[in-house]
Amino acid sequence: MNCILHIAIPCPLRQSFNYLATESEYPWTSGLRVKVSFGSREVIGIVLQASTTSDFDTTKLKPILERIDNYPLLDSELFNLITWVSYYYHHPIGDCFQTALPKKLRLGESTDLINEIFWKKEKTNTTESLGKKQQLLLEELTRSPEGLSQRDLKDLVGECKSSLQSLEKKLLVSQFSQPKQTLITTELTIGCLLNTEQKIAVDTVWKKREQFSPYLLQGITGSGKTEVYIQLCEKMLAEKKQVLILIPEIGLTPQFVQRFKQQLTAKIVVLNSSISATNRKQAWLLAKNSLADIIIGTRSAIFTPLTSAGLIILDEEHDASYKQQDGLRYHARNVALIRAQKLDIPIVLGSATPSLETLHHVNQQKYQRLSLTQRAGGAKLPKVNVIDCSDGNTQNGISHKLINAIRQHIENDNQVLLFINRRGFAPVLMCHDCNWQATCQSCDARMVVHQHRNILFCHHCGLIQRLPKDCPQCQAKELKNYGAGTEKVELTLQKIFPQTPVLRIDRDTTQRVNAFADMVAEIKQGGAKILVGTQMLAKGHDFHDVTLVGVLDADQGLYSADYRATESLAQLITQVTGRAGRGKKSGEVLIQTEQPRHDFWQSIIKQGYQFTADELLEQRVEMAMPPAGALCIIRAEERDQSLAMQFLTDVLMLCNQTAQQDVIIMGPVPAIMERKAGRYRAQLLFTTQNRRALHQLLDQHITAISALKLARKVRWSIDIDPIDLL
Ligand code: ADP
Ligand code: ZN
Ligand code: ZN
Repeated sequence: MNCILHIAIPCPLRQSFNYLATESEYPWTSGLRVKVSFGSREVIGIVLQASTTSDFDTTKLKPILERIDNYPLLDSELFNLITWVSYYYHHPIGDCFQTALPKKLRLGESTDLINEIFWKKEKTNTTESLGKKQQLLLEELTRSPEGLSQRDLKDLVGECKSSLQSLEKKLLVSQFSQPKQTLITTELTIGCLLNTEQKIAVDTVWKKREQFSPYLLQGITGSGKTEVYIQLCEKMLAEKKQVLILIPEIGLTPQFVQRFKQQLTAKIVVLNSSISATNRKQAWLLAKNSLADIIIGTRSAIFTPLTSAGLIILDEEHDASYKQQDGLRYHARNVALIRAQKLDIPIVLGSATPSLETLHHVNQQKYQRLSLTQRAGGAKLPKVNVIDCSDGNTQNGISHKLINAIRQHIENDNQVLLFINRRGFAPVLMCHDCNWQATCQSCDARMVVHQHRNILFCHHCGLIQRLPKDCPQCQAKELKNYGAGTEKVELTLQKIFPQTPVLRIDRDTTQRVNAFADMVAEIKQGGAKILVGTQMLAKGHDFHDVTLVGVLDADQGLYSADYRATESLAQLITQVTGRAGRGKKSGEVLIQTEQPRHDFWQSIIKQGYQFTADELLEQRVEMAMPPAGALCIIRAEERDQSLAMQFLTDVLMLCNQTAQQDVIIMGPVPAIMERKAGRYRAQLLFTTQNRRALHQLLDQHITAISALKLARKVRWSIDIDPIDLL
């Protein structure tokens, strides 16, 4: 009897592939990695299922090339989660495993952990006099009786290899080998006493720790949400339970991790894009082998194996970086909720500005709200006002009122934070003689002037050109630029305040590894007085001397065609407001707008985020938009203008074959920015009040859609619960 393996292969096809097992008596189970030949390639696949059958024609099946794992790489919990993800997002199973696994493991590397040398103190004592370094080492090792890694010791006392060797000769210390931890140890500090609201939050979650219970921890910025996470971790640690913490994809990780390291005696690992592939694999395996207690990571860390999961935490749950925007378009919050449900454990979603999705679930009493209404440590929320800019009387985008306010705050030796959500110098470059404009040759978009690097830069496809001095069309000598980005604001402020250090923080100035962390350190030390930055700066930073926050281009969010733009603007305004007056000093926020009397400003400033969010949620319900209804987009793109539209028309025809009252299909239509990176883009939108009907419809037709002639010619994708409709 033959053993047939159904294998998920990393490829865009929506099916598994059958191979013959080489050792049929071996216990073949799901989650094992195997090497197989696939077409002309050798690839690593994951066993989905094994079946022994005699009535199956196996003569055409190829045997696998190699079994890689002795035990499943993926335990059944994680395996089932990824299978669910493939089903829910209608995404090829092989590619789902690719997304979930660290690179080195998906390429077939072994699951052996990297070990390193540790030292521990022996019980023996000596009367012999020891060198200074040797004494220091003994002190450190006495403080950590379970031992310290050589790396940790080097960090604590400096180069110490030879001192350790002499101590070893005297039988005072001994070395042993142990899996390498990916973070170094730090000195512990004592946490603060929780206030009443924080205590209620911790106790409530703790009481229901044995069951699936979702919470929204809604706390204004600086109210001590992180402190609540830390104390929950401490309790979980005491019960030997693991905690998985997801954070958004921003430069915040080091600060966040540092607080956990300082307050908890725990093995913490970090999984995000800035750590090396080797460390990422190690961290993943430490978690799998119960050698990590707390796993902190960005989006894809939701796929970390957990052997004794106790709690999942998602910080800044409203953040858009939880949604992957290419390949497997999953939302980590959604996957986290499903995972917590299947694990039967609590999940805490934390935010000062919860998403409408989460608020909707709270309103429906599916999630319990835990509120933190006070700033911890007594700091006050700042005053917020709008500046009327409808007369257009600004100096490169900065109004005189704002300039005066900046002057005042600097004179009081405080820091100022200015937001403008556009990098570069100016978004428009044109010639007044012939009306030439700098546009991208591959996109329906303008090129942005980046004066610093002397280039024109397309923010959509990355195309770079030399900044022209004369008009390329009529050779006129003068080109004019319009609008302002971070560079222009920086330059303008340097001119107005020549004595004051200005620091620009955007993707261009933070490309170097650690650049962002260095800048944050500089800000904290007071080295920069005026900070000009994009959204990067809006999130989570704790700058105690910032007393004035200015928002330069808030109006963009009022006019956008994206149905979520107002929600995002409300979140951004509330988050940046949280950046002022974090310390002992009180703060002020000034928002420039050409629409000072717009209802939105009245609502967000006078009534606050919760009120505004409730209003927006009502509108969504009226329009049957998410979270009241569900959406799906099928996107297509191709160099030939007509093909993307043609493919989607074919998809529509297929879907229309089964009469569907519950799902409304709109389109296909060209994308608002139709041409991007040389490809014409189009989309087909599905809306429904009945999610199940939508999944059924897609399941019914997906095979036929994949088999369409154009399906192999155009690039296309399915996006379930898209957050970007443009
Ligand atoms: P959030 O995560 O809600 O923005 P944090 O947890 O970062 O808030 O807390 C903001 C600041 O208040 C931090 O400096 C933190 O150390 C401090 N803090 C938090 N909880 C307390 C408390 N109970 N007592 C005193 N200080 C606190
Ligand atoms: Zn010209
Ligand atoms: Zn372009």
